[in-house]
Amino acid sequence: MQPNSNRARDKAYVVHQHTNLAIYDRDGGTLITGGDGVYVTDEDGKRYLEAMAGMWSASLGFSEHRLAEVAYRQMKALPYYHTFYARGHLPSVDLAETLLAIAPRQPGAEPLTKVMFHCSGSESNDTAIKLIWYYHNAIGKPNKKRIIGRHRGYHGCTIATASVSGNPTMHQDFDLPLPGFLHADNPHYYRFHEEGESEEAFSQRMADNLERLILDNDPGTIAAFFAEPVQGGGGAITPPARYFELIQPILKKYDILFLVDEVICGFGRTGSLWGCQTYDLRPDLVTCGKALSASYQPISALMLTQKIFDAMMAESEKLGSFAHGYTHSAHPVACAVALETLNIYESDGTVEHVRRVAPVFLDGLRSLLDHPMMGDVRGVGLFAGVELMADGGKRIPFPPALKVGQQVQDECQALGLIVRCIGDRIALTPPLIITADEVAELVRLFRQGLDNVWARIR
Ligand code: PLP
Repeated sequence: MQPNSNRARDKAYVVHQHTNLAIYDRDGGTLITGGDGVYVTDEDGKRYLEAMAGMWSASLGFSEHRLAEVAYRQMKALPYYHTFYARGHLPSVDLAETLLAIAPRQPGAEPLTKVMFHCSGSESNDTAIKLIWYYHNAIGKPNKKRIIGRHRGYHGCTIATASVSGNPTMHQDFDLPLPGFLHADNPHYYRFHEEGESEEAFSQRMADNLERLILDNDPGTIAAFFAEPVQGGGGAITPPARYFELIQPILKKYDILFLVDEVICGFGRTGSLWGCQTYDLRPDLVTCGKALSASYQPISALMLTQKIFDAMMAESEKLGSFAHGYTHSAHPVACAVALETLNIYESDGTVEHVRRVAPVFLDGLRSLLDHPMMGDVRGVGLFAGVELMADGGKRIPFPPALKVGQQVQDECQALGLIVRCIGDRIALTPPLIITADEVAELVRLFRQGLDNVWARIR
């Protein structure tokens, strides 16, 4: 690395996220300088098929000029305003109206009638936790405060959202989780099912364990349950058959609010506009972000049912104000870009495209099951998790010291394919605009990556 190169300057000054900082300090990383469709390019001109859509988020790829133009127009018209102190602006009104009109609503579910915008999924989930506490104070149930997340669930990086998340490395030495956060089982069927246990029986065991967790911790203290329709950061884990069907009545039985975290799943990722539709979920609160603006602007949303908003209104009347807000929430440029993103999904038929290309994607990955390193492939829509195993049939993992997942990720990157390893699980969530030909290229490069690692470790 040249001393004054961009990579050297990056290494010298930038603290990277979710990165081994010591290794980064030694080796540096990759600087991405451009994008075109589903591809990105680094500063040396090397091109990569971005099979993670950035952070599971750049749904429209990396060169959607319609979004750039809307941002420019909004910057000239009104570059900034806020929604504090009874003021507001039109881009937030237009986006709120459009988003709520397409918000998830399964038969029997309460409609989502109000929305709060923030800059990140973490902020929306963090705000949801505050509101869940505020709501229970407002309705005279001040003991109902505990939040249940799931092991390997991911809901963000603030103090509270890292607490509800179930990733031990996000807790260790950060003095987390905070008290009052509990974690239910990770419903990862392939890894954790017992010999001969069907998916349905496994889901029943997960639901029984959740009920036991609630009873052991006094149902009168449990406020809410958080779940992603498909667990993303935990490893791209689709729920086993009947899982949510069995979980939801338990939440109802103990008067526990259900927050569905659609930050990855929302806007077509699972082949429906919402994960709630794919898995028939009836939440009280929904968060979304990432693909809300195709990641072209930092914006997220928290959608609420009317009963929660009514309680907020009563509290704010009693206390004099709803004392919460961020400077850049509902930023007009972000709102304008998000609105245009929703228009593009509609006019381009993005969800229909996902439905058409998803079988090519999932069958393509399943065609790799003949590879000696492959244990399992599961997915829905353009959301897949691949389990690497020393013996897939017997579910014998590779020795952790081999860091096989990391090796595959690195090998793929060298070949021009960006995937993400979560231990020895590989997540693949390409931009929603990916074509069948690009999927074929993705699968070919992935197989090559597996072959190259296998040649080293076999
Ligand atoms: N929820 C889920 C399901 C996520 O995957 C993420 C981020 O990956 C978040 C919340 C946090 O969003 P952000 O990184 O925008 O704060």
